[in-house]
Amino acid sequence: MMRIVKHKKRKKYGQHFLKDERVAEKIVSFADIRRNEIVLEIGPGKGVLTSILFKYARKVIAIEIDNELVRYLERRFSNEAQNLNLIHEDILKYDLSIISERIKVIGNLPYSIGTRIIMHLINYREKFSEMLFMLQKEVAERLVASPGTKDYGSLSIFIQLYFSVEILMNIPPKSFSPPPKVFSALVKIKPKKQLFKRSDNPELFYKIVKIAFSHRRKKLRNNLKALPLLDHDLKKVSLETGINFDVRGEMLSIKEYLKLTRSIGKIIKKSCK
Ligand code: SAM
Repeated sequence: MMRIVKHKKRKKYGQHFLKDERVAEKIVSFADIRRNEIVLEIGPGKGVLTSILFKYARKVIAIEIDNELVRYLERRFSNEAQNLNLIHEDILKYDLSIISERIKVIGNLPYSIGTRIIMHLINYREKFSEMLFMLQKEVAERLVASPGTKDYGSLSIFIQLYFSVEILMNIPPKSFSPPPKVFSALVKIKPKKQLFKRSDNPELFYKIVKIAFSHRRKKLRNNLKALPLLDHDLKKVSLETGINFDVRGEMLSIKEYLKLTRSIGKIIKKSCK
C-alpha cells in the first residue's frame, strides 16, 4: 500500500484514488509503453500512475483540473520536471490538436464524465496510438457491447466506428480511496481501419444513430420519423438497404447504420436540389 497524502477529496471531480500499488503497476504494464513514447495521463490525481509511467515513457503529459493536486504534483515530481508536462486544465476544454506525434493515453477517469471524456478524445482520434482507461464497469460494458444486447447503444457505435475495444480486467472498489459504490473495469481502446468512405456524411450518420436510440423501446420506424423524410422515402430506404424498420435501433450493426446513412443521404440530397 502507498503513503497516504492529506488532500480534501473533491466529489465533484470524481476523486477515487488508486491505493493498490500492484494494481497500478499492472495497469501500466498493459499499456506496453516503449522508451521513446509520450504518454498523456488524464486526471493524475496524486500521481500513483504517473510515478510508474516515468519508468517507461520518454515524457508524461498530465492534465489535472484540481489546482490543489496540481501544486502537490509539482512538489512531488520536482525531480522529474524535464519528463513531466503538467497542465492545470479541464480535459473537456483542452484542445489536443497541438499534440504533434501519435501518443498513448492513460487514465483512471472520473466516473461522472468518463463517457464525455471519451467522446471528446474521439475528436482527436488520429493523435492516439492507444488508450487505456479505468471506467465504471457499466460504461466499459457499453463500450464493448454488440448489436442485440441491452448495453448496445450510440456510445458503442461511436467508439467502435473508429476503435476496437477490449475489457482487460475488473477492479474492485476496495482498490480505491474512497471506495466507489460500483466495480471499475480497465479497457484498451485501439484505432482500427476507417469505416467511413470519402463520400460518407459523418454528421448525418451521428444524427441517424442518435435518432435511432432516442426512444430505446420504440421501433426504428417510429424513431426515424424525426428525420425530414416522407413515408414512401422510408419504404424506398428499407427496400434499398434490406433493413427492416420494425425492429429497435439496437438490432442494427454499424455497417447497417452506414448503409442506412448512405441511402437516406441520397434522398435528402435529391430533395434539396
Ligand atoms: N489517477 C489518479 C489515481 O488513479 O489515483 C486519480 C484518479 S481520480 C478517479 C480522477 C482524477 O481526475 C482526479 O484527480 C480528478 O481531480 C481529475 N479530474 C476530474 N475531472 C477532470 C477534468 N475535467 N479534467 C482533468 N482532470 C479531471
